[in-house]
Amino acid sequence: MSIIDFQSVTKKFGDVTILDNITLSIDKGEVVTVIGPSGSGKSTFLRCINALETINDGDLIVDDTSVKGTPSDIRRIRRTAGMVFQQFNLFPNLTALENVAFGARKVCGMNKKEANELADALLAKVHLADRKDNYPNQLSGGQQQRVAIARSLALKPQVMLFDEPTSALDPELRQEVLHVMQELAQEGMTMVVVTHEMGFARDVGTRLLFIENGHIVVDDNPKKVFEHPDNPRLKEFLSFAV
Ligand code: ADP
Ligand code: MG
Repeated sequence: MSIIDFQSVTKKFGDVTILDNITLSIDKGEVVTVIGPSGSGKSTFLRCINALETINDGDLIVDDTSVKGTPSDIRRIRRTAGMVFQQFNLFPNLTALENVAFGARKVCGMNKKEANELADALLAKVHLADRKDNYPNQLSGGQQQRVAIARSLALKPQVMLFDEPTSALDPELRQEVLHVMQELAQEGMTMVVVTHEMGFARDVGTRLLFIENGHIVVDDNPKKVFEHPDNPRLKEFLSFAV
């Protein structure tokens, strides 16, 4: 039951190949973490999945829909695959509740009451029930990122894509975000997570990808990889990262 299927995907920026003929599929329920050096193509890999980048060659199928499809296909893919970025990008003039309810109203066409009820439930899920009337500037970075996660969940995605969701946060605020992500994983959410959090990759991830120079160099069980990183480049990478 694959939900994301890379079929010989090549992505270039100008003449530079960023993803080189990548073939892999991700099944429902997998928690895939993606690690690799800066500039290796991790964000590009994620952005191709929800068609924020166009691919140059091959095909990429998300829940039976090609990223090379029509504008309506692209809209469908963006609802299927929710994305959380390093920067939370909340609307500063909307409360936490309004930020979460916004997409449910605009994208899913819910009425205000339904959207607010959903937002209430999702803010409770990310442990922010008591902060729903706060504006982003009244929330810590960790709280803002949890609102951003709730906002993505409001579109009822089938898979969640995270691009270094804790990298903009002070270390003491990272855990609360990782905890919410761990809970999502435990509920069975399919997730693709670009991260430098090796503890998360090892303990929560079910599969680990190491990207380098546009190639998936390692695709394996995280526990095995962390115990025996036999790929020399990965070994070197981990020796700096851990
Ligand atoms: P990572 O997330 O692993 O740090 P990225 O996927 O952001 O890497 O970038 C991979 C490479 O593609 C980098 O060399 C980066 O400079 C380049 N790149 C990313 N986005 C663009 C763009 N819009 N135009 C040109 N080059 C880009
Ligand atoms: Mg990146």
